[in-house]
Amino acid sequence: MTDQAAETATTNPVVSNFIRSRIDEDCAHKTYGRKVATRFPPEPNGFLHFGHAKSIFLNFGLAQDYLAQCPQSLCNLRFDDTNPTKEETEYVDAIREDVAWLGFDTSGREYYASDYFERLYQCAEQLVHAGLAYVDSQDSESLRATRGTLTEPGTNSPYRARSIEENLDLFRRMRAGEFADGAHILRAKIDMAAPNMNLRDPAIYRIRHAHHHRTGDAWCIYPMYDFAHCVSDAIEGITHSLCTLEFTDHRPLYEWFLDRLAELGAFNRPLPQQIEFSRLNLTYVVLSKRKLIQLVNDGHVDGWNDPRLPTLKGARRRGFTPTGFKLFADRIGISKSDSLIDYQVLEDCMREDLNERAERRVAVLNPLKLVLTNFPENHIEPCFAPNHPHHAELGKREIPLSRELWIEREDFMIEPTKGFFRLTPGKEVRLRYGYIIKCTGFDRDESGQVTQVYGEYDADTKSGTPGSETRKVKGNIHWLSCAHSVPAEIRFYDRLFRTAAPGGRQEGDAPDFERDFLTDINPNAKQIQVGRVEQALAHCPAESCYQFERNGYFVADQFDHTPGKPIFNRTVTLRDSWSKN
Ligand code: ATP
Ligand code: MG
Repeated sequence: MTDQAAETATTNPVVSNFIRSRIDEDCAHKTYGRKVATRFPPEPNGFLHFGHAKSIFLNFGLAQDYLAQCPQSLCNLRFDDTNPTKEETEYVDAIREDVAWLGFDTSGREYYASDYFERLYQCAEQLVHAGLAYVDSQDSESLRATRGTLTEPGTNSPYRARSIEENLDLFRRMRAGEFADGAHILRAKIDMAAPNMNLRDPAIYRIRHAHHHRTGDAWCIYPMYDFAHCVSDAIEGITHSLCTLEFTDHRPLYEWFLDRLAELGAFNRPLPQQIEFSRLNLTYVVLSKRKLIQLVNDGHVDGWNDPRLPTLKGARRRGFTPTGFKLFADRIGISKSDSLIDYQVLEDCMREDLNERAERRVAVLNPLKLVLTNFPENHIEPCFAPNHPHHAELGKREIPLSRELWIEREDFMIEPTKGFFRLTPGKEVRLRYGYIIKCTGFDRDESGQVTQVYGEYDADTKSGTPGSETRKVKGNIHWLSCAHSVPAEIRFYDRLFRTAAPGGRQEGDAPDFERDFLTDINPNAKQIQVGRVEQALAHCPAESCYQFERNGYFVADQFDHTPGKPIFNRTVTLRDSWSKN
């Protein structure tokens, strides 16, 4: 566990849920001895997203939390790589990195379903030997046609009555590569009339002459998910196999396979149990791998680690934090019914963590020059700003004040609107950590755009000096000395979609209208501007996060920020600005 994960594990009290209650019961009855074994089983066919974070905190979190009570508790990272055509090593490495980033050390606990291919094959042979599986030679169309529907039973395959010897012979020849893809499948012999369609003689193995990213060309038959998953759980001694709700109807099959295999001596009881929980659904994002791939491949974003994407790689680059995700996972909890979580809940968790973690700095994002005409030329007045308002131990730093300053363009208005208390001709404002100044004039170009503002400072009002607070002004604006700040590229990121349910129905849509989720993309979700930052920020390490006072939370870009060429990404604004839209 990293320090950060350890810190969150101890600061957040554990809230119970139905999975913990089930585990508590198993612990009380010593069902599995002194062990709670879970696994996180991603298919390495894409990058992890926010939904996976929920599953990671659940699975690894349980193993961690029960360790004191059940010292053999563990959580495996299992690459569920039984589908040869879609999987790649690149994803395996990325997944491992993401899990580590969230704070979980998987060294010594990494497994691959493909490592069990031989064992899986042997289990399948055992089922054939016992008359519990058969080779079906119908084509895919007949297989579909004889499966029945939700209201009609299926019909038995003409091959269902094959002898055990014939099935064994065919299955072995399938493995040996004698047949083309689709010529045969191995099926469990359960019940073609079962009300649960998953029990209508489901496929166990199919022929796929395809290269596998780990086993190469050693196999040309590959196990189906429902078979591979429960057997992998049993091989690893998993006690509680947690999956999302859409697998509820697969549970009888999970149990059928393991019960039969236990009866045949392949596994000892107690067997792993499958428990379902609701998947994470979030407003304003899409969490399906298919849609994420489309966004990347069609160039709507700049790659898998684009800060606008809800991938963990994107989140990291955006400046979201592992502790923020942990807070989020705890806050949304675990339930048995599907729900839609407001994106704001996630952002609030990030704000909460960053508010604590991020040191304060000054940045002027949209600079406008202010000249203090009564400020001595060449004089530099040191001003001091606390690095963190809640952590005095982090100290203060010097911000030099001089005659020429940058202020935020939006902090000046020629004719103030109601409630505008910042800089405006003839009025006073405080330069944060500095002096009270009065606006004495401004210049404009031909287009009417303000190009420079003039002011005079009051030398008796410096923040922190005796009597400085006696004169009150309403506005308090941030600034940077022109000579003591540096330009920085600021990338403003916002929500990738304009609508809470991308691709969902909207008012005014015709009844048969199908909205493409791509039409809901927010074209302004990425904007780049050149601002000014404190000099020292040009040399902060990549991934350092800061609160730019009054402006939000920002992070030095993980890849593009280099010494002397500062680049910051906006992680999140200080307050939610979407709820009023
Ligand atoms: P997708 O639907 O995006 O393709 P998946 O379920 O196919 O995702 P896997 O790699 O198979 O992706 O998922 C690994 C684990 O993460 C599974 O146990 C799965 O239940 C869990 N998981 C995936 N998406 C979510 C989600 N939105 N919320 C919670 N858990 C999820
Ligand atoms: Mg899956």
